[in-house]
Amino acid sequence: MNRLRVLLGLLILSLMLVVPAVAADYDLVINNGRVMDPETMYDAVANVGVKDGKIAVITKKKITGKETIDAKGLVVAPGFIDGHTHCIEPYAYRLALRDGRTTILDLEVGAHGPKLNEWYKRREGNAPVNFGASVNHEFARAEVLDGFKDWKYLYSPDAIRSRIKQGWSKTRPTLEQGNQILAHIDQGLQQGGLGIGSAVGYMRQGVSAREIFELQKLSGRYGRCIAMHFRYTPGDDVGETNGIQEMLANAAALGAPAIACHFNNPGYNMVHELLVRMREKGYNVWGEIYPYAAGSTALNAVFLEPEVWVKTLGNKYEETLQDVATGEFYTQKSREEMLKKEPTRLVLVYKTPESAIVDWIKMPGVAIGSDAMPLIPDDNLTWDTPDEDLPNTHPRFSGAFATVLRLARENNIPLMQAVSMTSYNYAKPLGDMGLKSMQVRGRMQEGMVADITMFDPETVRDNATYAKGTLPSTGIKHVIVNGKLVMKDQEPLKGVNPGQPIRFEPVKSKFEPLTIEGWNKAFYASPVDFGGGVPGYDMH
Ligand SMILES: [Zn+2]
Repeated sequence: MNRLRVLLGLLILSLMLVVPAVAADYDLVINNGRVMDPETMYDAVANVGVKDGKIAVITKKKITGKETIDAKGLVVAPGFIDGHTHCIEPYAYRLALRDGRTTILDLEVGAHGPKLNEWYKRREGNAPVNFGASVNHEFARAEVLDGFKDWKYLYSPDAIRSRIKQGWSKTRPTLEQGNQILAHIDQGLQQGGLGIGSAVGYMRQGVSAREIFELQKLSGRYGRCIAMHFRYTPGDDVGETNGIQEMLANAAALGAPAIACHFNNPGYNMVHELLVRMREKGYNVWGEIYPYAAGSTALNAVFLEPEVWVKTLGNKYEETLQDVATGEFYTQKSREEMLKKEPTRLVLVYKTPESAIVDWIKMPGVAIGSDAMPLIPDDNLTWDTPDEDLPNTHPRFSGAFATVLRLARENNIPLMQAVSMTSYNYAKPLGDMGLKSMQVRGRMQEGMVADITMFDPETVRDNATYAKGTLPSTGIKHVIVNGKLVMKDQEPLKGVNPGQPIRFEPVKSKFEPLTIEGWNKAFYASPVDFGGGVPGYDMH
């Protein structure tokens, strides 16, 4: 035994002599962490060398860098990718970093088509995280049907302003208006938008089946996704499922990628099975959840009208509809009064039992989208605004990703699955759409972009609640974006802005305006409007 030990010692010594030690091979070195890669299932304690913004090496050998992080006891995971956030602003970045997010995208709403370039330009060089947006459907409708042109934010927060009128939600466009809507959206796709975002659930009367089909045809021509808040969301298990079936039938007929936004609603098990089976058949369709029982939206959402929310779905306002700012629950009367004063006031909507949340995290292949809401009012909010001075919001704003890690720990869900949900499960389908920046993210592999989140798997947790939605997550220690350290020891570093735009290269238009002649020629079908109207029957 002793002789063996001596021999082994000599062998190691001689090996050390042959391998020359090179000083500072890398810009940054992460030592002794548990490196996890959801694509290859690599899971081992190793050292990571970062150089020129990329993961240059993952090795068990000792390596040196200009800067060193000791990650002993920490998981070294791909940076978290949030495909669904409506708040991409400096005052949101600190809390996003505390929650481990290195890329935040607004795919469900996104930017107004003609303003997409401008949206990206505002953030370039000014963000610690990567950012991106799809092209929005309802903004195009607001401009064409309500004449809304007062673009202040160019993306989601403008929903609060453009939704005060109702034409965008309830009007059936004529064929000419339909073509105008598609042309607005097409401008954003030409400018490199990530796909089309449509919250058709807020426009269930105004948007025909034909309109959704034409949107998916358009995004499909570019090979890009539609991200949809389904037609009957939130609804019951039949409505929810029928809503996604609309999107998936179109995706199959058109070969167009599609994302089921926040399918954490009744019917989720059926929705999940539909997505899994379609992926098995080669379709690029996927879904995301946020791990909370309540949602959040504007008070004048059509599904909160008494006809739907109370009569059809059997909810009581007193138990399910809470004001974000005051914490008070609405009655039918107080809801009506507030609608007159502030129609788009933010509310919490309790819609699923707490017990369902763990189910969603058990479903492999699901991605996480926080659905972080814009903070209202946002006057004078900056990077430096203390957490406690931020207006209240749904806790998913601050805690969606840490919640997933905590719930996985508490319910014996494999850590690798949680790591995959928070990063790879968004990167993979977006990369498969030809989005190059996502083919090299969401993975801990040599050659990939060094977006890295390091957390303590034993203590990582969310702290935000419905009453205090802006409390930061804890246990996420260090975050690296494009090879640069942007958070160290839970302290986001001010003024370090390596965030990159996530978008497609500009391309020529692929839009072909719809004509009655075109339809006749192709399918011998001649709808009289942009919907499914039949001659002699007025759908408007
Ligand atoms: Zn939504």
